[in-house]
Amino acid sequence: MSLQLVWFKRDLRLHDHEPLAAAASRGPVLGIYIFEPEVFSAPDADAQHLTFIVECLTELRSRLRKRGSELLLRTGDAQEQLERLVHALPVGALWAHEETGNGLTYARDRRVRAWAKQRPLPFHELQAGGVVRRLDSRDGWAERWEQVMRAPRARAPERFAALPWADAASGVDAPLAGDPPSATELCVKSYAARVHVVRGGERAAHDTLASFLALRGVDYRRAMSSPLTAFTECSRISPHLAFGTLSGRQAWQAAQRRAAELKALPDADPRWRGAMTSFAARLAWRDHFMQKLESEPRIEYEPFARAYANLRPREADPERLAAWLEGRTGYPFVDACMRALRAEGWINFRMRAMLVSFASYHLWLPWQVTAKALAPHFLDYEPGIHYSQFQMQSGTTGINTVRIYNPYKQGRDQDPAGVFIKRWVPELTDVSSDDVHAPHEMPALFAQMSGLRLGRDYPHPIVDHATAYRDAKEKMFALRETVAARTQAAVVLERHGSRRARRE
Ligand SMILES: Cc1cc2nc3c(=O)[nH]c(=O)nc-3n(C[C@H](O)[C@H](O)[C@H](O)COP(=O)(O)OP(=O)(O)OC[C@H]3O[C@@H](n4cnc5c(N)ncnc54)[C@H](O)[C@@H]3O)c2cc1C
Repeated sequence: MSLQLVWFKRDLRLHDHEPLAAAASRGPVLGIYIFEPEVFSAPDADAQHLTFIVECLTELRSRLRKRGSELLLRTGDAQEQLERLVHALPVGALWAHEETGNGLTYARDRRVRAWAKQRPLPFHELQAGGVVRRLDSRDGWAERWEQVMRAPRARAPERFAALPWADAASGVDAPLAGDPPSATELCVKSYAARVHVVRGGERAAHDTLASFLALRGVDYRRAMSSPLTAFTECSRISPHLAFGTLSGRQAWQAAQRRAAELKALPDADPRWRGAMTSFAARLAWRDHFMQKLESEPRIEYEPFARAYANLRPREADPERLAAWLEGRTGYPFVDACMRALRAEGWINFRMRAMLVSFASYHLWLPWQVTAKALAPHFLDYEPGIHYSQFQMQSGTTGINTVRIYNPYKQGRDQDPAGVFIKRWVPELTDVSSDDVHAPHEMPALFAQMSGLRLGRDYPHPIVDHATAYRDAKEKMFALRETVAARTQAAVVLERHGSRRARRE
């Protein structure tokens, strides 16, 4: 039985890991994770990702060791590291999940595939969740997705076959196993000090999911919209799905079990039913969006509908970009959301959409620039969702309704008393709840009483809402009516559109 090498990437788990289970049925298993400086030093990476990954790997390695296997940690170019290992050890096959990553990991996977073919070394890449590689058509995708979710989870081996060179109980000699590199070694940037650190690892993933399904999720449908409630009442499993400490199938099946259990409970809170339906739907959206990047990797850089390529300037206005990114646009709710995101590594969907809408419409910044700039701040950064959503919220898919958020309305709807604003924009602490959403409109006397010196303590609005809104709308609608835009919209719809009731 030859040695089976399992290459972990964004699938840092033992359970429901098909390549691991399949490899274990062929022979002794050795795991490897490669810290690639090229990936970690890219603009979309951040030290928070590294910290989370290291926690996941620490737990994964201990779990693999308990079962008689080992996880090697290596730093460097993936192909070089794999070659070195395959050269030194009697590796019979390489296993991994198909990864729907960014342009760098896409190119790296192609290089590794070519290397394995040329060596030759059997390289088995298995489908990750419901995202299909080389998909011909979106017809039937949703049905196929559901089949994948309903299929039995891959079982984690209780005990791996003994490794050929070491005593199976202790695994590989510690020095050979390797340590994770430091952030400095990887040149990974740290954009902000996080106030709340989400723990990595399979155990944390399952605890988070369990507390959502048992308790936190009851008011999910309502609570998800406001940043006052979403931090505790959304599932918060996104970093676990992004780094694979939890599979989409595990989450989906757990939601189905919980829904069945609630059905049998006569006095269950009726809100649970809607909560479970909405949660399961979002797990499907996840793969639906990732499928778009899988099918068309160019959407990381180019609009879905090419007619939108020159809609906005290619370069971002540096002052506007900095004001947006640093939470000093003079729009209190926008600034509060941005500052919260940077401190917590997370913000809820609606507020992400508003932040992007504000950048793309009010500030007319190119989404290619803002998407890369915001990616490091999301602990759950998932390229497939990220770029699709950035384009959707910037109006460049050609197929979605143009939605320009009114930041004042969002603030008044989602944070009526300005509690969230005051938490994150302390400059406005003494401004009344009525005025805190638009302090520039405050009567002079009130401004004096609050002690706020607008323009010094807190900026004036960076743009006038009504003017920016009108200009953006005019430009968008003028382009949408062109023949090129309409023709391309039909192509995008055919290639990427959901065949079920519109979910975008
Ligand atoms: C501009 C923008 C960028 C985004 N970038 C990312 C990203 O990089 N990574 C990421 O995981 N999500 C992203 N999202 C989607 C969404 O905001 C997050 O998935 C969600 O806030 C994560 O929190 P949660 O796990 O508590 O979600 P829940 O509401 O509890 O949902 C459960 C899971 O469903 C999936 N999901 C939820 N909403 C969506 C959605 N609208 N589209 C696709 N999948 C969804 C996620 O995997 C999520 O973890 C983005 C949204 C926008 C508007």
